[in-house]
Amino acid sequence: MLHHRDNIRDEILDEVFASTDLSVAMPKYRIPEKEHLARHAYQVVSDELLLDGNSRQNLATFCQTWLEPEVRSLMAETLDKNMVDKDEYPQTAEIEARCVHILADLWHSPDAENTLGTSTTGSSEAAMLGGMALLWNWRARRRAAGLPTDKPNLITGPVQVCWHKFARYWDVELREIPMQGDRFLMTPEEVLARVDENTIGVVPTLGVTFTGGFEPVKAVSEALDGLQAESGLDIPIHVDGASGGFLAPFTAADLVWDFRLPRVKSINTSGHKFGLAPLGVGWIVWRDAADLPEDLIFNVNYLGGNMPTFALNFSRPGGQIVVQYYNFLRLGREGYRKVHQSCYDTAMYLAAEIEKLGHFDIINSGRPDEGIPAVSWKLKDGVEHPFTLFDLADRLRTRGWQVPAYTMPPEREDLPIQRILVRAGFGRDEAALLMDDYRNAIAHFDKHPITVSMTEEEAGAFHH
Ligand SMILES: *Cc1c(COP(=O)(O)O)cnc(C)c1O
Repeated sequence: MLHHRDNIRDEILDEVFASTDLSVAMPKYRIPEKEHLARHAYQVVSDELLLDGNSRQNLATFCQTWLEPEVRSLMAETLDKNMVDKDEYPQTAEIEARCVHILADLWHSPDAENTLGTSTTGSSEAAMLGGMALLWNWRARRRAAGLPTDKPNLITGPVQVCWHKFARYWDVELREIPMQGDRFLMTPEEVLARVDENTIGVVPTLGVTFTGGFEPVKAVSEALDGLQAESGLDIPIHVDGASGGFLAPFTAADLVWDFRLPRVKSINTSGHKFGLAPLGVGWIVWRDAADLPEDLIFNVNYLGGNMPTFALNFSRPGGQIVVQYYNFLRLGREGYRKVHQSCYDTAMYLAAEIEKLGHFDIINSGRPDEGIPAVSWKLKDGVEHPFTLFDLADRLRTRGWQVPAYTMPPEREDLPIQRILVRAGFGRDEAALLMDDYRNAIAHFDKHPITVSMTEEEAGAFHH
């Protein structure tokens, strides 16, 4: 009896940290034998996540970390919707189709009404689909001409890892133009030097991961026009617009990089980057139905409907796509322009402040016609620095800031740089606070010079 009363008392008292569940360590790599109260399990999991970085101070990620309350509501309302069940959730499917048309229109598709495209889990899946379409089309052209199809190659600048994956998974030779000296982007000359009859396509990036710069899509396209006139080789372009696809239409309208160039056959972008949607959505759009080979499309007879699909995943969440549509409605062209422009303004402010410190050379200064709203910089040559960029990154962590420092890809692996990515939700005041901490970090190292610097690994270098 007494025992029973104690139990009741415990429940009334209900102090979660005094409970039997939380006063012992929970099992971690094995499922527990018994259940726990929901409230207790929640507290344990939620508390463990406190050790993660604060996402708003994560200046490494390109992905959205600030979301309006309405976005949270729509995400909660769609938590149970499977994007693939288009027959059951026809309005979610309709909303996805509208987003594809909106993007085709933003990217100047010659026929946005009849365009083909799809949502994906991100730019990586979209890049796989874009690369596959290039590969299939190249094979079809070669077969029709009675030519071998065993040595496909793809030409890129310094690309995000998804293109390395594409090349390895589909057995395509990647001809990645390395960085050279102070050239961090692809150039038309470097593309022409690598192109041949086995080239399935060229992939310029609008917003190169390492520095933030836009690759010269128009100049590359014109060089390939010249090549075609001379040799007959007709090489298609796919643009990796993971970041830039959602920036340039609003903040660099005069930059010609999209379907205005007939050679651009497909474009991918990440909705969860500058599309301002929550994590888990990307997009790909083809210029023309003819650019997407029909035998890549599966017509699935499923749950009473005939559903054409072209995707690597089957089930996936629908909420991100619904929120993408909400953002289009909510912001319109004007709102997207304002949000992105304020990020560029903050990036340019940071670039000017960092330059003033005297230790650094700016690589990308956050100008809307040159790249994404990111600042990247390196240590000045010929000046004494009592620290490395890795030491600075580590010091900033003591204030919660995550400002990545990392070395460049092949052939500039000798060059460490640092980068800040400015996203919606990182305002001028926060940027000023960050600059205070940056100056304080330098003052700290002036007073306590580093004798043995951190390595890239020790500083926890990372970029995306
Ligand atoms: C982020 C990024 C990717 C990968 O996109 P996810 O949406 O993260 O899958 C591909 N290319 C570039 C240029 C990127 O910036």
